Amino acid sequence: MPKTVFQKIIDREIPADIVYEDEICIAFRDIEPQAPVHCLIVPKKLIPRISEADAKDDALLGHLLLTVTKVAKLTGILKTGFRTVINCGVDGGETVPHLHVHVLGGRSLQWPPG
Ligand code: 5GP
Repeated sequence: MPKTVFQKIIDREIPADIVYEDEICIAFRDIEPQAPVHCLIVPKKLIPRISEADAKDDALLGHLLLTVTKVAKLTGILKTGFRTVINCGVDGGETVPHLHVHVLGGRSLQWPPG
């Protein structure tokens, strides 16, 4: 299977504005930001989408959610608030088949999403 664009970022084959990294995940700024702060948190393990994670991934999924707060703090939106989004499948708006958590903030976000 060809590498996803996020795998290429993990492998440093294409550049990204990385804000956080550890042994389990990497976080970088979205190339097409939908808010003043828009980061993606991507596990280094390739799980295509949240619906394909299983019980073996429970610690990894918890780690991704705990990383949200770290990324919010590092990017200056912890106090003002932020939104965390995981798109899944066609109707969910998923475009990259490598699990990722969006972290958006820096402006007042509307609800419901379009
Ligand atoms: P999805 O629609 O799958 O939930 O989100 C994929 C996100 O990846 C989009 O917001 C898109 O802008 C972002 N993205 C796609 N290609 C690249 C890239 O090469 N670099 C970065 N930093 N973000 C990307």
